[in-house]
Amino acid sequence: MDASPSLMIDKPLPPTEKLFNEDPYIKQVEATVIFVQGPYVVTDKTVFYAESGGQASDTGMINGLKVVDVAKRGGNRLVVKKEGIEVPAVTIDTTIVHMLAEDAPFKIGDKVNMEIDWPRRYNLMRYHSASHFLYYAAHKVYDKEGDEIFTKGCSISDEGARFDFFGDIDGARIPEVEKIANDLISAPAIITMEAEALTKDIHYWRCGNIVIPCGGTHVRSTEELAPIKVKRTKKGQNTTRLSGVFI
Ligand SMILES: [Zn+2]
Repeated sequence: MDASPSLMIDKPLPPTEKLFNEDPYIKQVEATVIFVQGPYVVTDKTVFYAESGGQASDTGMINGLKVVDVAKRGGNRLVVKKEGIEVPAVTIDTTIVHMLAEDAPFKIGDKVNMEIDWPRRYNLMRYHSASHFLYYAAHKVYDKEGDEIFTKGCSISDEGARFDFFGDIDGARIPEVEKIANDLISAPAIITMEAEALTKDIHYWRCGNIVIPCGGTHVRSTEELAPIKVKRTKKGQNTTRLSGVFI
């Protein structure tokens, strides 16, 4: 949210109830406005996902007015130790701030109707789930004993998913990555998100015996996905990008 410097919140705001944590298929909700400043709106609960973990923010409408950006503010840093799984440090209990395309005509206490752009979010969910198979497959192919490939960053949009890995990744083995990912995608299997005991802001994404800590939104089954085409691009000296798009 690059317009955020103009957003000065001088009082602490409570954490927003994030409905997508319970059910990512909720498209719409009536919520109560608890803060307004210029184009920025905070409500008690929301269906809007704010960019994190590589997954892009939702867009949509509040009372028919366009939401152009969504961001998290505040919260507390939490480090979770879980045996056998590396869980990145996350900021929990954040307040979600929605930015409208224009100044918000709401006042505190107003009930507003919030609705996300569902076709876009659904593709974000599909690509986020597919990205976990791509990530798993890349590790399967390229990790060596004591020398695992290291993720520099990832990005999930409604048009594709990509990971940037440190170092060079052998392009000749891309068909193997693609096959492992697509074999998993093509086998009907349920995908679950189990909440971490300490916070609902961290979930464990599980499909079969693959478990990945994640705070994003996902589809319920591999049957909602499609096979992916994997492409490798060199990004400078020390970075290799693997991207996946549905075929
Ligand atoms: Zn994820």
